[in-house]
Amino acid sequence: MLTIQNSIDLTQLNTLHLNSIANHYIQLASLEQLDEIASILTDYPRYFVLGGGSNLILPENYDGLVIHNQLKGTTFDDDSSGYKLVTAAAGEIWDDFVANCLANQAYGLENLSLIPGTVGASPVQNIGAYGVEVKDFIDYVTVYDFNLRQLTKLSNAECQFSYRNSYLKNKPQYLVVSVTFKLPTTAKLMISYGDIAKQMAMIDNPTARDLRACIIATRRSKLPDPAEIGNAGSFFHNPIIASVQAQELKQRFP
Ligand SMILES: Cc1cc2nc3c(=O)[nH]c(=O)nc-3n(C[C@H](O)[C@H](O)[C@H](O)COP(=O)(O)OP(=O)(O)OC[C@H]3O[C@@H](n4cnc5c(N)ncnc54)[C@H](O)[C@@H]3O)c2cc1C
Repeated sequence: MLTIQNSIDLTQLNTLHLNSIANHYIQLASLEQLDEIASILTDYPRYFVLGGGSNLILPENYDGLVIHNQLKGTTFDDDSSGYKLVTAAAGEIWDDFVANCLANQAYGLENLSLIPGTVGASPVQNIGAYGVEVKDFIDYVTVYDFNLRQLTKLSNAECQFSYRNSYLKNKPQYLVVSVTFKLPTTAKLMISYGDIAKQMAMIDNPTARDLRACIIATRRSKLPDPAEIGNAGSFFHNPIIASVQAQELKQRFP
């Protein structure tokens, strides 16, 4: 059953804590809701999927429908060749998911610890940090296609991952439902990156848990917690604008 709420305050749902009101808002908590949502989109030509709100600049008023992804659940399957196939629903909190993988002896995501947001957004911009990108561990992404009204699996190659980019970016017809990762059951630590290399060199026989702790401490020393001080983290892409706009900006902010 779909409940559409009106005039919902998104201020606490984005890490910049921008004051923003959505005219219409739905919480997506089960796959059964997807067909129903697809059927009402003709009434809401403007819509977007909201995850953790850590990579968004929201307007004061969003005159459209916000689909707030809250799909939960994670499964671990041994494929008995030294890997686990781990499928996480898109609404899982990314860092909780990384911790859960470590607790289940599924390794590789340690360097991506403490990145804010949800699992579902992770392939959209191919999140990356400290020498690792999520694409290195994604087997496939399951999306719901609002145009075709069906679930579709996109292989790693079909996602066309590149630096903080993928085929999924700016494709509003796709809602990421879950992501399936292929994670080694033996840790192979990626510790050659700048500050991390120096800190890890001080630990005898470092484990994946040591690496996660090191990444978390390093990140906390560099960026405030968005829950306390609103921030957007790092900038990965420079915005591209028309030269006329660039000249206008130069004049306004010499
Ligand atoms: C303090 C801080 C540090 C950060 N550090 C890093 C970093 O080290 N590396 C890095 O790569 N990024 C980093 N980021 C950026 C951000 O955390 C990631 O881009 C994250 O993946 C965004 O997830 P989210 O759930 O918050 O997405 P949102 O901000 O909610 O959404 C971002 C975009 O993805 C779309 N989207 C979200 N969920 C779905 C879905 N299920 N299906 C389809 N589209 C969807 C949205 O429509 C929107 O266009 C940082 C951000 C902050 C605030």
